[in-house]
Amino acid sequence: MSVQAAALISVHMDLGAGRRGVDMGPSAIRVARVSERIAALGRPVEELGSVYTREPETVEVGAANARYHSEILDVCCRLRGLVQEARARGSFPVVLGGDHSIAMGSVSGQALHHRSRGEKLGLLWIDAHTDINLPETSPSGNIHGMPVSHLLGRGLPDLASLAGPEPAVDAAHVAMLGVRSVDRREREIVTETGVRVFTMTEIDERGLAACVRDALKIVTTGTGGFHLSFDLDGVDPRYAPGVGSPVPGGFTYREAHYICEAAARHGGLVGLDMVELNPTLDARNATAELAVQLILSALGKTIL
Ligand code: MG
Ligand code: MG
Repeated sequence: MSVQAAALISVHMDLGAGRRGVDMGPSAIRVARVSERIAALGRPVEELGSVYTREPETVEVGAANARYHSEILDVCCRLRGLVQEARARGSFPVVLGGDHSIAMGSVSGQALHHRSRGEKLGLLWIDAHTDINLPETSPSGNIHGMPVSHLLGRGLPDLASLAGPEPAVDAAHVAMLGVRSVDRREREIVTETGVRVFTMTEIDERGLAACVRDALKIVTTGTGGFHLSFDLDGVDPRYAPGVGSPVPGGFTYREAHYICEAAARHGGLVGLDMVELNPTLDARNATAELAVQLILSALGKTIL
C-alpha cells in the first residue's frame, strides 16, 4: 500500500480571535519548514492551497455577539471544500491556522466525507478552553470561542449547518484534553451537551496516559475515524509562548508530543488542525517550531 500523502492547507485568518496576529500562523509554520520535514518522514506532501480573507481593519465587524460572522462563514465554506478534496484524493489534511473558528470548516469537511460513507466522525479537541460558547453566552463575541457548539449543531444556523442538516459531530464522539479556562456559561453548555472534557485537574489526578486512552476510545467508538483539532494554547505558555490566549498550567513539551504520538499510534486519525499560533507574540519562532514537531508526531514520527 502506498504511503498516504499529507495535504497542507493554510488558512490566513484572525477574524475569530480577540487580538491580531494568528493570520500569520501558517507563514511561521512554513518558515519552520513544515513541508520539507514531513517529506523527510517519507510522506508525500501535497499543497492544496491557501485560504485568505480580509483583515479586521478593512471589514465591518457585524453583530457584536458574533464578530465577523459572514467572513468567517465564507472562510469555513472554502476550507470545508479543500478538506473534502483532500479526503477524496485519499490524503490526510493538515490544516495550518489561523484562529480556531476554522475548525468549523475543517471538521465539517471531514464529517461530510464520512457521512457519504455512512460513518460518523470523532473529534479530539486539544485546548486550554472549551470553545463551546454560543453568541448569546460569549463574553467577547469572538467566534473562535464558539466552534464546538456550532459543530454540535447549536448557535448561528449557517455556521451550525456547515455539515448539512445533521450536526458535524455527535457529543458522544467528542473528547477535549487540556482544559483549564472555562467561562461560567460554558460550564452549563458542557453539562447540557454531554461533551467529555478532561480537565487539567483530572489529568493531574489520573495521569495523562489514562485520560488519552479514554479520550481515544470516545472518538473512535462508533466512528469511521477522528480528526485532531490542536489549539497550541493547550500547551503551557513556557513551551508555546506564541499564542493569543495563553493560560498557565498546560501540557509540557513531552505531554503535547505524547498526545500526538498516541493519536497516530492508535489508528483512525484522519486529519488535523494546528491553530492559534501568533507569531507576533512568539520567541524566535519557537512555537511554530513546536507546531511542526507536533504535526510530525501526529503523522507517525516516533523516537525509535
Ligand atoms: Mg481553541
Ligand atoms: Mg484555546
